[in-house]
Amino acid sequence: MTTVFHRAPKRALPVAVAGDGIEIIDSEGKRYIDASGGAAVSCLGHSNQRVIDAIKRQAQQLPYAHTSFFTTEPAEALADWLVERAPEGLRHVYFVSGGSEAVEAALKLARQYFVETGEPRRRHFIARRQSYHGNTLGALAIGGNAWRREPFLPILIEAHHVSPCYAYREQRSDESDEAFTQRLADELESKILDLGPETVAAFVAETVVGATAGAVPPVGDYLCKIRAVCDKYGVLLILDEIMSGMGRTGHLYACAEDGVAPDLLTIAKGLGAGYQPIGATLVSDRIYEAIVKGSGFFQHGHTYIGHATACAAALEVQRVIEEDRLLDNVKARGEQLRASLREHYSRHEHIGDVRGRGLFVGVELVEDRATKVPFSHELAVNVAIKREAMKRGLMVYPMGGTVDGVSGDHVLLAPPFICTADDIDRIVSRLTDAIDDALRSAGS
Ligand code: PLP
Repeated sequence: MTTVFHRAPKRALPVAVAGDGIEIIDSEGKRYIDASGGAAVSCLGHSNQRVIDAIKRQAQQLPYAHTSFFTTEPAEALADWLVERAPEGLRHVYFVSGGSEAVEAALKLARQYFVETGEPRRRHFIARRQSYHGNTLGALAIGGNAWRREPFLPILIEAHHVSPCYAYREQRSDESDEAFTQRLADELESKILDLGPETVAAFVAETVVGATAGAVPPVGDYLCKIRAVCDKYGVLLILDEIMSGMGRTGHLYACAEDGVAPDLLTIAKGLGAGYQPIGATLVSDRIYEAIVKGSGFFQHGHTYIGHATACAAALEVQRVIEEDRLLDNVKARGEQLRASLREHYSRHEHIGDVRGRGLFVGVELVEDRATKVPFSHELAVNVAIKREAMKRGLMVYPMGGTVDGVSGDHVLLAPPFICTADDIDRIVSRLTDAIDDALRSAGS
């Protein structure tokens, strides 16, 4: 285990050796409920036989064929499946191997679209503070956390940031939803005007913010207003559903709930559910046609795009979700999870907010509930919660500290779509104990 270089090389991690439904088992035989789906990935749990069989079948028949020579049946079938259910106008699919690659492809598609359509000055990307879009250079540049970008600033493209639609932190107490979302739309419009509309390529946002803020859904008609501002100035809208898409919110595409169709949509994580690494960028007719009529090809590519075994696995994942009507369970269990957390935490002095959509739920911790003052970064409350949760056999995804002075510590819950009402009770009970012990050890 010492030769594998993960994020923190000195950290001793348990060795995961097996999966059983919603649980992972380590080499000591200890079981962990995967209440975060890893990082909102494992939507079918860890031992789905149908997906395993689909992978075996495809690997036996044809594991891989390079896309400069062939397309494959699973890639075509998966693209059809995704497009048949996609928001209006998104009728083309570019497969990649993960989330950051999907975002890179979206940024380059947006840029190439404007080159093809005779607007080469459009080069600026606007995103939001308190967002995460990946770790490759383009995705990192647009991501909203300054501390992630800091060491790499000299080698990043220039990106611009506006306020997130983060009601708990950004909405004034006397401000209606309507006024709040209008203020955010006005801020985007001002940013576009400051930069010069003829220089702006796209606005990028997570439909529901994931890791950086803990399952923050858009308020009211925020996305409709944002879409209107983009349209007014010919700016493309890129929605990043790498965490929130593929059923996580109870809808296959999270933006369907908001009635908004972007020009480019990125998905990954739940697409392959962790059984294979796969992501995709869904592309509108307008962008696809411009590229086809222009230079004729997207100036991009990776060795593993459209990987046959990854596509076969993802197609089976999506079939299982639909045939087993798992999105109904996502909605029901999600409501149960939020209601149970709110009941447990209604008087807890350090739980500031419980929020989310479907089985994508965030709990925000604060030092002072009345003032919403976050815990100091030095206390590393989120690290303590993760440690206490793992002791109790519970995987949750805590992030935070006073990142860029905006968010407090939070816990992200994204359990598999197959979880039962009993599983939700076990998750809440273990999490409650973990939070209380973590806060005690952090000295609050
Ligand atoms: N976009 C969002 C919203 C994400 O949550 C993530 C990963 O957490 C990414 C992009 C990057 O995906 P990946 O880690 O697969 O490169």
